[in-house]
Amino acid sequence: SSSMSCQPLSPQNFRDLFDSVEAFLFDCDGVIWKGDGLIDGVAETLDMLRSKGKKLVFVTNNSWKSRAQYALKFRSLGISVSQDEIFSSSFAAAMYLKLNNFPSHNKVYVIGGEGILEELQLAGFTAFGGPEDANKALDPKQNCFVEHDKSVGAVVVGIDLYINYYKLQYGTLCIRENPGCLFIATNRDAVGHMLSSQEWPGAGCMVAAICGSTQKEPVVVGKPSTFLMEFLLKKFNVTCSKMCMVGDRLDTDILFGQNAGCKTLLVFSGCTTQSALQDPSNKIQPDYYTSKISDMLDLSGA
Ligand code: PLP
Ligand code: CA
Repeated sequence: SSSMSCQPLSPQNFRDLFDSVEAFLFDCDGVIWKGDGLIDGVAETLDMLRSKGKKLVFVTNNSWKSRAQYALKFRSLGISVSQDEIFSSSFAAAMYLKLNNFPSHNKVYVIGGEGILEELQLAGFTAFGGPEDANKALDPKQNCFVEHDKSVGAVVVGIDLYINYYKLQYGTLCIRENPGCLFIATNRDAVGHMLSSQEWPGAGCMVAAICGSTQKEPVVVGKPSTFLMEFLLKKFNVTCSKMCMVGDRLDTDILFGQNAGCKTLLVFSGCTTQSALQDPSNKIQPDYYTSKISDMLDLSGA
């Protein structure tokens, strides 16, 4: 796209950005929190943005939880955010099925967490799998033939801390034996933070397993999908040029904003370092970068 390289956030360009933007879209892990710890200055920064009338939207690719569970997480960190401002990839999966008129007599098989099941059920779908299959094992010494429910019309795959061979077999059968079965990935992040101290395999790992066995590619509904962006734009009735996507990952957050024509701000409080941004092999350039979102507070003079 632009040959102009990205700029560090400064008092001058922050003023321009701030004046032109109606809504800030925040990625969560690496921007708001890291694992289960709040990042410095976040509460004050969000308060400042709200007091200036900015719309705030929180978008996380971590599908382990539902929006309701994320609202509790925000509250426990001392930030008041309403469920309507939260968009998790678990919710995106449910909205994708809904907007594509997924028939309610078809079932959804889930390789993932409670959050996905909760959002699917809330949207009126019959979903199963996930936690209830956590302890099922395929024992080759037993008769391990798996019968699958033929009414499954979609398999949703997200981060699954209890992934096992039974779940892989079940999901694979649903997709391979029914050519019309949808294969939906909440996201394809390579790694994520279950704890702030270490990175763990992300949903990209579980998704790749099903790609391997089915030789099919999923529809991705989380960042950087255009599906989620179009959903947000419609919901908040904002034009892309008046939105700023703030994130710590180039290939999910910044790409997500950039594809839609939003302003983009990369922060270094998560997984991307300044040297990774400036590495010649990196093709994704945000409009601006800064160390953490509370820099906005300092730059606003508040
Ligand atoms: N997926 C998993 C499993 C995670 O643990 C994380 C971050 O902790 C993410 C995805 C990325 O989440 P976000 O989009 O909020 O950065
Ligand atoms: Ca992030």
